[in-house]
Amino acid sequence: MTTDKNANDFSILFEPVAIGPVTAPNRFYQVPHCTGIGHQHPQKEAALRGIKAEGGWGVVCTQEVEIHPSSEISPFLEGRLWDDNDIPAHRLMTDAVHTHGSLAGIELVHNGMHAANLGSRVPPMAPSLRPVHDYHPVQARAMNKQDIADFKRWHVEAAKRARIAGYDIVYVYAGHNMTTLQHFLLPRYNDRSDEYGGSLENRVRLLKETLCEVRDAVGGDCGIALRFAVDELLGDQGMQATDEAAEIVSMLADIPDLWDVNVSGWDNDSATARFEPDEGYQEKYTSFVKQLVNKPVVGVGRFTSPTAMVSQVKRGVLDFIGAARPSIADPFLPNKIRDGELSSIRECIGCNICVSCDNVIAPIRCTQNPTMGEEWKRNWHPEYSDKIGVPEQALVIGAGPAGLECALQLSRQGYPVLLAEATTETGGRALQESTLPGLASYRRVRDYRQQQLQVAINVELLLDNRLEAQDVIDTEIKHVFVATGSHWCKRGLGREHPQGIAIADSAMPVYTPDSVFGDLTPQGHIVVYDDDHYYMGGVLAEYLINSGCTVTLVTPASCVSHWTENTLEQHKIQARLLHLGVRVITAQSIGSVARKTIELQCVYSRMSTEVQADAVLLVTSRVPNDSLYNELEKFKDNFDTLQRVGDCHAPSTIAAAVYSGHLAARSLLGDEEAALYKRELPAV
Ligand code: ADP
Ligand code: SF4
Repeated sequence: MTTDKNANDFSILFEPVAIGPVTAPNRFYQVPHCTGIGHQHPQKEAALRGIKAEGGWGVVCTQEVEIHPSSEISPFLEGRLWDDNDIPAHRLMTDAVHTHGSLAGIELVHNGMHAANLGSRVPPMAPSLRPVHDYHPVQARAMNKQDIADFKRWHVEAAKRARIAGYDIVYVYAGHNMTTLQHFLLPRYNDRSDEYGGSLENRVRLLKETLCEVRDAVGGDCGIALRFAVDELLGDQGMQATDEAAEIVSMLADIPDLWDVNVSGWDNDSATARFEPDEGYQEKYTSFVKQLVNKPVVGVGRFTSPTAMVSQVKRGVLDFIGAARPSIADPFLPNKIRDGELSSIRECIGCNICVSCDNVIAPIRCTQNPTMGEEWKRNWHPEYSDKIGVPEQALVIGAGPAGLECALQLSRQGYPVLLAEATTETGGRALQESTLPGLASYRRVRDYRQQQLQVAINVELLLDNRLEAQDVIDTEIKHVFVATGSHWCKRGLGREHPQGIAIADSAMPVYTPDSVFGDLTPQGHIVVYDDDHYYMGGVLAEYLINSGCTVTLVTPASCVSHWTENTLEQHKIQARLLHLGVRVITAQSIGSVARKTIELQCVYSRMSTEVQADAVLLVTSRVPNDSLYNELEKFKDNFDTLQRVGDCHAPSTIAAAVYSGHLAARSLLGDEEAALYKRELPAV
C-alpha cells in the first residue's frame, strides 16, 4: 500500500465526540440509510452494518425503523420494531457494530401519510386529512388527541425496545417528506386548528413533546438524535433554512444530544452527481445549524475527500462527517484515511444505483463496491479475500468496468494477471460515458481500479492490444476471462421492437450512442428515440442540444428516462431537458424511418403521425461483443477456465459489469452457486 499523505493531517477526524451519555470513537458517522434488505433479512443487514464498523465508521445507523403497524411502508423493506419479537433481529446488528468499538444508532420512524399501510391495512394518519403519497387511492385521516397521545407512547415504547436491543443512539425523525413529525411542521399538510396546528410554536409542539418524552425514557443511556430537514428546496412553498427552519432549530436547540441535518425530500438529500456534482453540496443549507446549538451536528454531502472533511470540521460547519453513499462505496474509507491510503479509497460516483434498490425492493448493490449487500450471502469482504495456493496465470481481455474489476480481484487472490485492452485507455464504457454532461464522476470506476492495478505487482497491462482467438491460444494461459463489452444496436431492437425497426435503405442517417462516442459531428434536427429508459437517451438529448442541434426526444414510455425514477432523477432530467428546449414526445413508438421523416405511432391507439428530422439516434438495446468468446469456445479444451464477463455476457448497468467481473474472479476460489441458495427463511 502507498502512503500518500501524513495521516496526522487528518487527526481531527479521529477525535472522539460525545453524543449525550455515549461517545463516538471518531467523527465518521454512517447516517441512517436504507438497504432494500430490511426486516426480512436481519443476518444480511447485520453483516453489512458490521463491515462498516470494521472499516472505521465510529457510528453506524440502521435504516428507518417502523415503530408501529399504523406506519407500515410495505411493499418496501425497511426496519421494524413493532414489539419485543423484533428485538433479537436488531441485536444481531448492534452486536456486529459493537464488535468493532463503534456506536449503533436506530432511526425510529412513523411515516404517516407517506405510507399507505398496504400490509397492516390500518388507515394511515396525518396531521390533517390528506391523500397519501405515491398515488395510492388511499387517504390519511386527521389525527385526534388520542392518536397524538398514542403516537408519543409508541415512540417511547420503541425507544425502550431499542435500548434493550443495544442501540446507543435513538433517533427522532422529521425529514425527507416521509415522516409524521415533519408533516406536522409543514403548513401544506397541517391545517389543524388546535394547539398542534397554526402558529409555528403549535406546529413544532408534537416534535418537541416526542423528543422530550423519548429523552426522558432512554436519554440516561442513549444519545438522542434529531434528524431534521432544514430546507425542502421548494422556496416559500416549503421549509426553508433561511426562514422557519432556523426558528425551529432555536426552539429545540439543546433538547437533542445530536442534530442530524439535511435537505428534503430524499431526491434532494441523495442528489446524484449529475445534479449536484460538488462534494459538500448541502453546506449552503445546513451550515447555520451549528451557530444556534451547543450540541454536535452531523450532515452529509457525498464526502470522499479527507481534506474536505477536515475543512467542514475546522470551519465549524459539522462535528461529524455524515455519509450514506460514500460508506456504501467504501466501507473502509475511515480506516484508509487513518492509514494514509488515500489512493485506495473507492469513491462514490453519485449514480444512485444503491438508492434504486430500495425503490425496486431489491437488496442493495453499488456500482463501485461489488461486495455491498453480499457480505453475509457470499461472505464477501470489500478489502480482503482468500488467496490461491498455487498461483496460475490468468488472462483478462478488455479493460472496461468488468475486465478491470476481474483483473483486480484476480490479482488480490494471488493470480498473476495479464490484462489486454484493444484501445489506448482503460475504462471502456465508463470512460466514454464520463464525457457526457453530468457524468464526469463515472471516471472514478476506472480511476480507482487502474490505480490499484498499477501498484499491484502481479498485473501486466497491455494497452493497444486487440486480441484475436489465435493470440489468446498462443499465450497458453489456462484461465481466460473475456470482457470485451457490447455495442448499441443499430437496428432499433428493443422492448417496442423485438425484431428491430423498419428502416428504409434510403433513410436518413441512423446513429446510436456509439456514433457520439466515435467521430460524429452532430448537426441539424436529431430525433433521439429512447426505448432503453435509463440515463442514456436523456443525457444524449442534453449533449446534442448543448452541441447546437435541434433535438426531439421520442419515447414509448410516459416520461423521459423512465427508470431513473428509481435513482430519484426522473423529474430533474425531464425538467432539465424541457428548460434546454428539447421537444419531448412521450407514449410514441417509431413506425418506420424514411429519408426525411420518421413515422411515429401512439403506443395506445397506434394512430400515426410524422416528424421531420435530419437524423435519428436509436437508444434501444445493446449487443454483446462476443465473437472472440464464441471463437475461443471452439478451443475450450485448451482452457481450464473460459468465461464471458460483464456486457460481453449480458449487457446491463456498469454496476452489473463490475459485479460480474468480481464474481468471475471469486468463482475460481470455490463453488459460487451455493450462495444463490443461501437464504434467511421465516421461522415456522
Ligand atoms: P464492460 O462494461 O463489460 O466492462 P466495456 O464495453 O465497458 O464492457 O469494456 C469492454 C472493453 O473491452 C473495451 O475497453 C474494449 O476496447 C475492450 N475490447 C473489446 N474487444 C477486445 C479485444 N478483442 N481485445 C482486447 N480488448 C478488447
Ligand atoms: Fe455511490 Fe453509486 Fe455506489 Fe450508490 S451505487 S454508493 S451512488 S457509487
